[in-house]
Amino acid sequence: TNTISSSVAAGNSSNSGLMDYQSSKFEFSTQVSQTLKRVFHLDNFRLCQEGVINAAVDKRDIVCVMPTGGGKSLTYQLPAVMGRGLTIVISPLLALIWDQVRALKEIGVECVMMTGATSTSEQNEIYERMKAGSSGGRKEIRVCECTFPEKVSKSKRLISTLEKVNERGGLTNSTSDEAHCCSQLGHDFRPDYKKLSMLKTLFPRIPIQAVTATLSSKTLPDLLKILRLGPITDAAKSTGTVFFSAPLFRPNLHYKVLSKPSNAKSAIAAMGEWIQKNHPGQSGIIYCLSKKDVETVAEELREWSGGEIKTGIYHAGVEENEKERIHVRWREGKVNCICATIAFGLGIDKGDVRYMSKSLEGYYQETGRAGRDGQDSDCVLFYRGQDAARLSSLIYGDVDGSSKLQEMLRFAQDLKTCRKVAFAKYFSASAHLSASAWDAPDALSSSSGSTSTCGICDNCLRDPSSIITKDVTVETWKILKVAQYVQNEGGRVTLANLSDLVRGLGGGLFGVVGGGEGTKGKRKLNGEKEKVDLEALGGKITLGRDDTEALLIHLVLLGYLADSYHATAYSVNVYIVPSDMAVRLTRLRSEDVQAGRSVKIECTFPAPEPKKSKAKKAKKSDEDDGEEDGQEDEEEKEEGKGKA
Ligand code: ADP
Ligand code: MG
Ligand code: ZN
Repeated sequence: TNTISSSVAAGNSSNSGLMDYQSSKFEFSTQVSQTLKRVFHLDNFRLCQEGVINAAVDKRDIVCVMPTGGGKSLTYQLPAVMGRGLTIVISPLLALIWDQVRALKEIGVECVMMTGATSTSEQNEIYERMKAGSSGGRKEIRVCECTFPEKVSKSKRLISTLEKVNERGGLTNSTSDEAHCCSQLGHDFRPDYKKLSMLKTLFPRIPIQAVTATLSSKTLPDLLKILRLGPITDAAKSTGTVFFSAPLFRPNLHYKVLSKPSNAKSAIAAMGEWIQKNHPGQSGIIYCLSKKDVETVAEELREWSGGEIKTGIYHAGVEENEKERIHVRWREGKVNCICATIAFGLGIDKGDVRYMSKSLEGYYQETGRAGRDGQDSDCVLFYRGQDAARLSSLIYGDVDGSSKLQEMLRFAQDLKTCRKVAFAKYFSASAHLSASAWDAPDALSSSSGSTSTCGICDNCLRDPSSIITKDVTVETWKILKVAQYVQNEGGRVTLANLSDLVRGLGGGLFGVVGGGEGTKGKRKLNGEKEKVDLEALGGKITLGRDDTEALLIHLVLLGYLADSYHATAYSVNVYIVPSDMAVRLTRLRSEDVQAGRSVKIECTFPAPEPKKSKAKKAKKSDEDDGEEDGQEDEEEKEEGKGKA
């Protein structure tokens, strides 16, 4: 955090500091603003764009952190177009390169791309044109966009061509877009990005501009090292790397978490209804966890809407040509809802993405793709507690995976904290930019670190009477008793199993692990089925299914329950076990817990919807902890079985 916040602070406080570049007093300033208008047809700079552009024209090495959609491309494209010679841009993804090359061509900039799909004859032509520069028969290539590993590191011809261009003084600048991919400590590490170090080695005098939307205080030094950039410095000094950052919060993004129904069909219907109600016919992306999810969601959503929601699919397994086709159809509005894995959208530029909904992981990173045109857009997370188990098994083995997941779950479960404040906390907690980086630029200099609320997220807009905070100490005690019993009996339960068990469902049965083989779901592979005697353990809890799942996740987040991983030949199963902390609570007698002689545990739930037949009950549940929640899918089973 130190490096980043101190350099930002320096820029804010001293006149000779970084912000010096953020002005129009340079000898090239007129040319900069003319290029902005005449070539890019834009009127004003956004965020720190002007400063970055000035520093780039001034031939400085630059690291620039700007939110997705903030306009990072312009910061290297404008200097490239303004000067003379060739700028080489390295980007990790094809989709991003297509977009940029198309956009540059549209405004008349000579621009080529080098990707895995560029044919040998196209390559030959590009190399010839590069070598010829402005003296060839054709216009000089000003920007060459490359995907990284395929091209730059592996193509000796590209390197030798660039060397020739450089020898005659024709190489102007090099840019690493999505530069966080360099760092192993970041979230999107690409091993081949490490080879970018050769840029400074081969072309020590050519400035490097590294731009990204996500860079932590941990990853910054790593990035400087890999790109062989000098230490972050003051603009007044002539050596070193100039650092720019812009506030990460985007006021046009409306964050909300919606409860995802438990069965797949209702989940599709919920998404479909939400889209049709809020954004009919508009563009959106649904991020899913796996390729298979992508395909089913796309298919079922189209079916559900009778073809009104025009879906397309995009994931790493889709053929390159097909990807390009989808991209074009999406841009033309023939497809309006892309179902995708995170393979889609790293840096895509389609202004009018209005809604996004995805399962869980990487939510923050993807939401940046919405509303790049500055118009209001929704970022929706469809979530239910059960997703946690699936996510746990996916992140198994990732560095920091489980702590990152916990942060995400905390975000999803939280019905009170402003989403912007939550993001700010999340980012400072996971050692990204300081929390204040989320606020307006003037707030950057204040050291208070407090973040103001956004006023537009679900939690800011929530009617306080639509949520209830309940004392769930007794429920917790019962849940932990059951979890402990299962563990003592050598059994294993998933979150869903445990949720059923504590509510007296599923016949009270759980699988026991006999000869060391795991159990899968409720199906027992080995040993006997064992039964929980709920009455002996204090009785069942009377929360509805959704609330019970939410409470179980809450207890995981509080540290009373923990994930336990078991690898089978096919997958990693995630079971729920009581933690050491649970013992302190379960040692207490039921009477003591009932009488409040223990630590108090609270959990916030959505208030039951007032229904005709249930109006009285719903009201009553305010005072009565153990009252049924009134969730539709449980009504029949649970009706009237409330137990104090
Ligand atoms: P990033 O790479 O930071 O995610 P992009 O460079 O793709 O963002 O830009 C996002 C969108 O903002 C693009 O549609 C771009 O044309 C637009 N844009 C960039 N700079 C400006 C500006 N100064 N004024 C208006 N629109 C801009
Ligand atoms: Mg970009
Ligand atoms: Zn808010």
